[in-house]
Amino acid sequence: MSVESRAGALLDALRQRGTHRQMRLMAGPQATRMWLEGREVLLFAGSNYLDLARHPEVVEAAATAARDFGCAAGGSRLINGNFEIHEQLEHELADFLGTEAALAFSSGYMANVGVIPALADRGDVVISDALSHASIIDGCRLSRAEVRVFPHGDLDFLEKLLREAASPQREVLVVVDGVYSMDGDVAPLAELVPLAKRWGATLLVDDAHGTGTLGRTGRGSSELCGVAAEVDVVLGTLGKSLGSFGAFVAGSRALRDLLVNTARSFIFSCALAPPQVAAARAAIAVMRREPWRREQLARNANRLRVGLARRGISTAPSTTQILPVIVGENDAAMTLCARLLEGGVYAQAIRHPSVPEGTARLRLTPMATHRESEIDQLIDLLAAEWVG
Ligand code: PMP
Repeated sequence: MSVESRAGALLDALRQRGTHRQMRLMAGPQATRMWLEGREVLLFAGSNYLDLARHPEVVEAAATAARDFGCAAGGSRLINGNFEIHEQLEHELADFLGTEAALAFSSGYMANVGVIPALADRGDVVISDALSHASIIDGCRLSRAEVRVFPHGDLDFLEKLLREAASPQREVLVVVDGVYSMDGDVAPLAELVPLAKRWGATLLVDDAHGTGTLGRTGRGSSELCGVAAEVDVVLGTLGKSLGSFGAFVAGSRALRDLLVNTARSFIFSCALAPPQVAAARAAIAVMRREPWRREQLARNANRLRVGLARRGISTAPSTTQILPVIVGENDAAMTLCARLLEGGVYAQAIRHPSVPEGTARLRLTPMATHRESEIDQLIDLLAAEWVG
């Protein structure tokens, strides 16, 4: 079959199901207002939560690193791509998170498909939440371990799976998102940590959306839940609240050495480019120095949550800066998204199969630097377009 006929058949099927995807063309610097296909829009559709991607110190650090080192690391970390700035970034991440060590990866996706197979192999068991991010699912598949899934947040079911899996002969790995990326709820880590410990399982938390945004000092969902530094393995991204690109896995020194030696997406891939590393380091410094960004993000998310609830629009089960407004059918979510765009607001519609069928939604993501009036503009517009 030619590429054309394969593409034709598959894409037609997607169009018929209303799930055909297209990229939108954005323009302008990262900010709360950007250009989308020729129109200025108020952005509620990104992950630049703390507005650090264009912070002067972050931009300057990246520019200086490009001048000093060039735009590439020139190879993988294990050959010629390991520079002092990579190790400094990892020390700073470990210091921030209170872990012994950290290791940078090229993206959160690459981190999950690297770390899960490094921690579980054929004959082992990986247990994961039904709403896990796609990169967790792919990491589980690549591990060749037996994969067991528990209904979202159902700790009794998880305990049943842990009881069944427990054996001195095999590794049992529990993998959850810290913040669920399409629902904005936080994993119940205060209960999950002791549960995993009781059954001798390793716990991996993908805190892509919690790093920098949650907890008193921004350490993420584990800090919010009062179990900071008790999670065995924490994964975070540099491309969301930390305003750069890339990711990291943090934990013990033994974990880092294991990953350096066995995580294929680390070993067989180029090291992070120096401008990305420098930008992330600068962003970590600003984030730690300026807690107002995290506090204001939470205030903005709350203003949006409460304002929509007053208009009869639920954002449950979110307790974070990711707020879903469940619409139902794919087409209805796309229509609502288009209406908001006409009103000058960009909030992305998320459809099945990215979310369970019948739960297509708008995914609203405020930033720390949205003004109250801008949050209110979104509330008014959504309330005016909302048909329940
Ligand atoms: N994990 C989660 C929970 C995510 O939401 C994302 C990004 N959407 C990733 C991992 C992947 O991170 P990256 O974009 O850095 O590949």
